[in-house]
Amino acid sequence: MNEIQDVIIIGSGPAGFTAAVYAARANLKPLLFEGLAKGGQPGGQLMLTTEVENYPGFPKGIMGPELMDLFRKQAERFGTILLQQDVTSVDFSKRPFRVTSDGKEYSGKSVIIATGASANWLGIPSEKALQGYGVSACATCDGFFFKGKEVMVVGGGDSAVEEATFLTKFASKVTLVHRRDALRASKIMQDRATSNPKIDFIWDSTITEIKDPSQKKVTSVVLKNLKTGATSERKTDGVFMAIGHTPNSELFKNQIELDAKGYICVTEGSKTSVPGVFACGDVQDFKYRQAITAAGSGCMAALDAERFLEASHG
Ligand code: NAP
Repeated sequence: MNEIQDVIIIGSGPAGFTAAVYAARANLKPLLFEGLAKGGQPGGQLMLTTEVENYPGFPKGIMGPELMDLFRKQAERFGTILLQQDVTSVDFSKRPFRVTSDGKEYSGKSVIIATGASANWLGIPSEKALQGYGVSACATCDGFFFKGKEVMVVGGGDSAVEEATFLTKFASKVTLVHRRDALRASKIMQDRATSNPKIDFIWDSTITEIKDPSQKKVTSVVLKNLKTGATSERKTDGVFMAIGHTPNSELFKNQIELDAKGYICVTEGSKTSVPGVFACGDVQDFKYRQAITAAGSGCMAALDAERFLEASHG
C-alpha cells in the first residue's frame, strides 16, 4: 500500500470506528489500524466489559464485544480498510504524515488518533480472571448490576470517591479501600463520601486477592494492611478499581502536545498541536470516558479531518 491515504485512523474503540464511519461515508476511504496491543485483541475497553446498558439505541442492552463488532461492521460497510496491526511509530514532522506498522510505512494526508486509555489495575491475577464478572473499572457502566449488593472501591482520588458515592444508588453498602490513611480527592467530594452512611473506609490497605475465579463471581477479597502487614478476608459482591487511567499516547510523545498526565491536548473540537492530526475518545478525555462520548468525539474528528482536507486541497 504505497499510495497516500486521505485519512489514517489509529485505534478501534467507539471513537476510531465512528471516525471511520464518517470518513468512509465522505468517500475518504480511511485506513484504520485496529491494533493488537491489549491482550491481542482490538476493540478497546468495551471488549473487557460484559453488558452495556447505557449506549443509546439498545433498550435491552448489548454485550460490549458484540457492540464493538457492530461498530466494526458499520465502518467496513462504507469501505474502511481495516488492518489488525499495531502502529509502532509515527512521524508527524512533515506532510504527508508517516505511520509505521509491521515494518511498513504508510502515508496519510491526515491522521485521527483514537488509541484510548487503559484503566490501571492492581496487577493481581484474580482481578483479570474476574473482569466482567464482578470486577470492573467503571462504576457508571456496571454499578447498576449491584442493586442491593455489597461492593468495594479501590483508590483514594476523585474517581474513587465519585464512584463510591455513585454506587450507593444501587449497592446496600460501599467500602472504599485506600492504600494510605488520607484521601487524595477534593475536599467537597471527600465530605460527600464521609457523610454518606452507606460508605465506610478501610485505610492503609490493599487487595491482594479477589475470590473466587473458579465460581466466575466475586465472593470476597483478601486485604493486606500496609502498615502492620496483617491480612484479613472480607466478603463482597463486587470490586471497582478507581486507581487512575493511563492514556495510550506513548507513540505520540515528542510528536504532538500532551498534558502532564499524557492526555493529548486538543482545541476546537479535535485539533491537536499539529494541523492535520486529530484526536478523539479517551486518549484526549479524562473527564467523561464513556463509549457514547468517545463515539461523538470520533464523529467530530472525522468532520474536522474532512474540512482540513478540503481546505488544504484549496
Ligand atoms: P488519581 O487522582 O491519580 O488517583 C488515583 C488513586 O488511586 C490515588 O488515591 C492513588 O493512591 C490510588 N492508587 C494508584 N495506584 C494504586 C495502586 N497500585 N494500588 C492502590 N491504590 C492506587 O486518579 P483519578 O481519581 O482517576 O483522577 C484522575 C483525574 O481526574 C484527577 O485529576 C481528578 O481530579 C480528575 N477527576 C475529577 C473528577 C471530578 O471533578 N468530578 C472526577 C474524577 C476524576 P495515592 O493517593 O496513595 O497516590
